[in-house]
Amino acid sequence: MADLLDGKALATRLQLELSEQVKTLAMRAGRPPGLAVLMVGDNPASAAYVRGKETACSRVGIASYGKHFPTDTSQAELKQVIQSLNQDDRVDGILVQLPLPDHLDAVALLNQIAPDKDADGLHPTNLGRLVRGEPGLRSCTPAGVMRLLADYQLDPKGQHAVVIGRSILVGKPLALMLLEANATVTIAHSRTADLAAVARTADILVTAIGQPKLVTPDMVKPGAIVVDVGINRITQTTGKSQLVGDVDFEAVYPVASWITPVPGGIGPMTVTMLLHNTVWSYCQRLNLAP
Ligand code: NDP
Repeated sequence: MADLLDGKALATRLQLELSEQVKTLAMRAGRPPGLAVLMVGDNPASAAYVRGKETACSRVGIASYGKHFPTDTSQAELKQVIQSLNQDDRVDGILVQLPLPDHLDAVALLNQIAPDKDADGLHPTNLGRLVRGEPGLRSCTPAGVMRLLADYQLDPKGQHAVVIGRSILVGKPLALMLLEANATVTIAHSRTADLAAVARTADILVTAIGQPKLVTPDMVKPGAIVVDVGINRITQTTGKSQLVGDVDFEAVYPVASWITPVPGGIGPMTVTMLLHNTVWSYCQRLNLAP
């Protein structure tokens, strides 16, 4: 039977610590840290994520400078907004909520964000710093995975980590972070031959796929650590909707040694790392020792 990697409990504790830290820092700096979350369109899932981020900001004392734009907002308009936030001294972090409507070029917009305000750690400069092992803003979801493992003293050193998923948002940066933590890393994806056999070699199996319950017990080495990043909404036979991960939790639970629940695993850790990044930028920009 696995033990739970309780991201929700850790996130609550870390946010409490962060709020104490922010109180002291804001007194020294004369202003609180500030985060601007930009949302375009009416995607209900994105709107819920943005609300969650803004609520978490107010809980720890970070000022929100969020803006919500209609679906037909142009690339040029958004570029201008990002450029003015880059110049705004109250703003330490800027985040563009993804996905964007189809007519917008997300990569070009993310590249407009000043690297020292890149709260999501997706700017090429920050991804480059990660590749080189230099300090910098790290992508929130992978950073949340690493922080959760660290808190449970699950050291990746010498372990074989298999990351399923190679997105720039999760899979690729996470593989680099696991490598930095001295794991031996394999990245699997939709073209991987015999995914089950590859997954079964993992001491640490991380899924960032976006396919409900794709990972079944036959794909998990007995005693493996299983981290499920996936968030998928499914409709039950009763017609009720439910959030599930990429892992068939009930079936894999008896096989793994540690496992994250969905919800309550990596989701809350991602938000916490966003707050952490904003405070980190604030300290760097104002030359404050945290
Ligand atoms: P993407 O769609 O960008 O990437 C999915 C990856 O999974 C791709 O690399 C794809 O391979 C791979 N993949 C898809 N289907 C299969 C398959 N059948 N077998 C093997 N690999 C497969 O998704 P994201 O990385 O953005 O997100 C992944 C999941 O994580 C989603 O459920 C998302 O909602 C969730 N998420 C959760 C967060 C959190 O806070 N918990 C934050 C961010 C995302 P290929 O490259 O070959 O197409």
